[in-house]
Amino acid sequence: MALEDMRKPIESGCPDGFQYMHPLMRKNFGLWDWHDHPRPGVLRHVAKNGDSLWTVKAGTQRILDVFSLRKLCDIGDRFADGHVRFTIRSNIEYMVADEAKVEPLIKALEDAGFVVGGTANSVAMISHTQGWLHCDIPGTDASGVVKAMMDELIDEFKNCNMPNRVHITTSCCQINCGGQGDIAINVQHTKPPKINHDLVSNVCERPSVVARCPVAAIRPAMVNGKPSLEVDEKKCICCGACYPPCPPMQINDPEHTKLAVWVGGNHSNARSKPSFQKLVAAGIPNNPPRWPEATAIVKKILRAYREDAKDWERINDWIDRIGWPRFFELTGLPFTKYHVDNWYGARNSLNASTHIRF
Ligand code: SF4
Ligand code: SF4
Repeated sequence: MALEDMRKPIESGCPDGFQYMHPLMRKNFGLWDWHDHPRPGVLRHVAKNGDSLWTVKAGTQRILDVFSLRKLCDIGDRFADGHVRFTIRSNIEYMVADEAKVEPLIKALEDAGFVVGGTANSVAMISHTQGWLHCDIPGTDASGVVKAMMDELIDEFKNCNMPNRVHITTSCCQINCGGQGDIAINVQHTKPPKINHDLVSNVCERPSVVARCPVAAIRPAMVNGKPSLEVDEKKCICCGACYPPCPPMQINDPEHTKLAVWVGGNHSNARSKPSFQKLVAAGIPNNPPRWPEATAIVKKILRAYREDAKDWERINDWIDRIGWPRFFELTGLPFTKYHVDNWYGARNSLNASTHIRF
């Protein structure tokens, strides 16, 4: 077949981002000189040729209805030459080439009910996973936790009162996406799964469920004459990993599925190595629709951090400096032996290979 007769490949995946960029960003790609932070929620970037671009950031609820999206896009048409972008923390950003449009844009956003902020040393919008809306294994509605918590942290989002930026995350199961940040609110199961033996043989591929368990607590078994599974409850660490491949191993439960708060997770950066987050509060009631207990704990941690940390210290830097005993003293959280795990001995106790150990 001649080359010109061949069908063109169908490309899938991310489209080229350049086509969506604000023209001034395209023009100055790789040529920016410096940037500053004129007010909370606004960044200014200046290119080597003197071009300036203002970025105005506003929080959204992430799971957006079409009416809010239209409202946000109309604002983009009026003030930002029809260009918007979303950040991974569900913020919308408008790029503005004319300084005179910055304040009217902020006013238009606030009049429409959106909150401008989330830049520099503020509490950024909480990044979260999907919860009930999209996933098949959540133990809580992460989006709901975010809404309830951000309602109470709105002043910290709008202002820059923190020693450095604070990234909060939530996740709605204990094992998969999300859940790594300066403060992370994660689901915590506290009971082994309850097995519906009538369904296991119809729904689950038993060998793959057995292989899923990180502590080899699941064994094949015959129950009521049907092939099923059994769990050694002494070994089970209630992680919930068996539930996605085998929904009859029900682990979510309104009473025993709890929330836990972890702190100090951070990616590596120019100054420090990556740090693991550590558990500081467990067994918090999973209490919709406002999750007041979890919110109160997050506020306590933020208050202690704001009052005690030095400028530029992230939460993990602050705790490294003051030590864990002082962290628990300042936040007033109870400390137990389960809380701060330094992973000492983890090479022997965690599965680090595909081999099952008994
Ligand atoms: S955190 Fe778990 S339940 Fe939530 S969206 Fe991710 S995989 Fe699904
Ligand atoms: S909850 Fe986790 S530890 Fe318990 S049986 Fe299931 S996979 Fe194994």
